[in-house]
Amino acid sequence: MPLWFTRGLRRGVVTTRYPARSDPSAASLPTPPAFRPRQLTVQIVDRMIAECPGTALSRAASTLVFDVGACTACGRCARVAPQAVTPSGEFELAATARSVLIKMIPIRGEQR
Ligand code: SF4
Repeated sequence: MPLWFTRGLRRGVVTTRYPARSDPSAASLPTPPAFRPRQLTVQIVDRMIAECPGTALSRAASTLVFDVGACTACGRCARVAPQAVTPSGEFELAATARSVLIKMIPIRGEQR
């Protein structure tokens, strides 16, 4: 019988402490990206948009539009531009309004 089961029976707790305390396994979850504006150029952004399998990324002039609600945290954009993309570490993405999941990220990198 698994240890966690017998321990749960003894203590009366059969689930993790989440959300009161973060679960240690959360550290290994894939999370949506965070972007570094100074490392973004129009060319890099367009390559990331082409690589994104969904509709999470788009561009409006010199702004990267990131729809966090459409992101699957697949990591393809980070593979295209590892210098400009880092895991956000944020997986709690519930929101009461769809609009708060749309992020406008200025493209501030210099063209090469
Ligand atoms: S992690 Fe995947 S789905 Fe999310 S923005 Fe990057 S390429 Fe698109």
